[in-house]
Amino acid sequence: MFRVGVGFDAHRFDPEGKRPLKLGGVVVSTELSLKGHSDADVLLHALTDALLGAAGEPDIGELFPPSDPRWKNADSALFLKEALRRVRKKGFEVINADCVVVCDRPKISPVKGKIVENLARLLGVPTDRVNLKGKTTEGLYSPEGISVICTVLLGTVK
Ligand SMILES: [Zn+2]
Repeated sequence: MFRVGVGFDAHRFDPEGKRPLKLGGVVVSTELSLKGHSDADVLLHALTDALLGAAGEPDIGELFPPSDPRWKNADSALFLKEALRRVRKKGFEVINADCVVVCDRPKISPVKGKIVENLARLLGVPTDRVNLKGKTTEGLYSPEGISVICTVLLGTVK
């Protein structure tokens, strides 16, 4: 059996933020920072929600509410690991993931390889099963932050 999931997330830039910008668990900028209760890793949040959605589990906001002080400055890899645990508990494995990072800054191409490698490591799949695209909006939405859309495909373990 196959199951598909989609996840979306968006975070605003924090002009006064001191926390370095992390995407997919990789620090991609020390000049930019995103607002958020956890480490604000918008890519890991969207990917986590895609996994949870595919497995028919509650979403990231339900499992890890921002009102809970436990998740303050939390490493978002924790959220992804919990989503994976739930995926595997239901007898599924990740087949592939495809993600689009929508932002005008920072540039994604120089850090793409590093992010893909880390996502593959976190998901426990070869790097050719993870795809990442950086898309600018050409100023269309005067982006004040970063948004991400991810899809994942799960398959039952034989
Ligand atoms: Zn988020």
